[in-house]
Amino acid sequence: MIKTRGYAARSAKSPLVPFTFMRREPGPHEVLIEVLYSGICHSDIHQARNEWGGSLYPMVPGHEIVGRVSRVGSRVKRFNVGDIAGVGCFTDSCRRCVSCREGEEQYCEGSVQWTYNATEKDGKTRTYGGYSQRLTVDENYALRVPRSIPVERAAPLLCAGITTYSPLRHFGVKRAQKVGVVGMGGLGHMAVKIAASLGAEVTVFSTSEDKKRDALRFGAKRFVATRGRDALAGLARSQDFLLDTVSAKHDLDAYLELVKRDGRMVIVGVPEKPLEIRAFSLIIGRKSLSGSVIGGIRQTQEMLDYCARHRIAPEVEIIPARKINAAFERTLKADVRYRFVIDAKTF
Ligand code: NAP
Ligand code: ZN
Ligand code: ZN
Repeated sequence: MIKTRGYAARSAKSPLVPFTFMRREPGPHEVLIEVLYSGICHSDIHQARNEWGGSLYPMVPGHEIVGRVSRVGSRVKRFNVGDIAGVGCFTDSCRRCVSCREGEEQYCEGSVQWTYNATEKDGKTRTYGGYSQRLTVDENYALRVPRSIPVERAAPLLCAGITTYSPLRHFGVKRAQKVGVVGMGGLGHMAVKIAASLGAEVTVFSTSEDKKRDALRFGAKRFVATRGRDALAGLARSQDFLLDTVSAKHDLDAYLELVKRDGRMVIVGVPEKPLEIRAFSLIIGRKSLSGSVIGGIRQTQEMLDYCARHRIAPEVEIIPARKINAAFERTLKADVRYRFVIDAKTF
């Protein structure tokens, strides 16, 4: 067993504090990864604070992980010592169900083994995430991070990147389509960059007026500040596709109104409270409302290679581990440009 330092929430109400625990030696198909950087996703905050229910404590969050492979098991084929590897939201799945066989492990009908706040397949061993110095993971659930992506910026791709890339690709967003991104935080800013790279005409809908310049720099054509009264006036039926990344309760009907006939709105944000819609918002205009969660291993690798090719990287603010709690607070205030990333040397 390998002693590992990290940060953990001890309860829903307490701040994250230093926490030492054990990682296992890699088995024949596993690699040991020395974490270099770990992103702070809003889902970490929802779970640390038990906003979705069922949280397990102590909890070491973190599912945007990039590190260097330091040991490989005897049968490992895909990684060598020294490789840069990434780990996202899950570290195993049943490997047998239709979804697993189709490379959509995130929808595993057996059980997905989440990177933290879960147990391993034995139903007992707790999983601990990337707010830590190292982790042991099956080589089939680790990603190869292309060398051309700056390593200190790569971590957020493992959740924010794939969560936005996946629905944009799955629903076939293409050149010249009008794509609206609602909320420009960690996920939203990646959605803007990726959708723009696909040739879409991107509009950002944001409560933070001071994000306008950044939105245009990331490739958006248009920025709509949503705080004012009548902010959305005149924009009815203007968008082919809307990607909603908002982390708190908001008015879905107002956004569905922006969708064209036969268009689609996809929700990826997971507010603590249920969202409501009026049936009329969908039936008038034959609109579709969908959801999407992260992406499978194959598509995550595709996204990493795509971002390397298109020179797309997240905007990050690197922090030491002792600032995690302050970073949570700033993220809640939408005061992050655009992802906090923890330097793992500071655990
Ligand atoms: P984030 O960085 O905090 O960004 C969320 C953005 O939503 C904020 O920057 C803000 O953008 C906007 N927002 C926040 N509160 C709002 C409010 N009350 N009304 C309107 N807009 C508000 O969070 P994130 O890491 O991108 O995650 C976003 C959500 O996606 C979270 O709920 C997270 O749990 C979820 N998530 C889902 C998946 C998935 O697979 N489906 C994966 C990762 C995360 P503006 O300043 O531009 O308004
Ligand atoms: Zn996430
Ligand atoms: Zn499965």
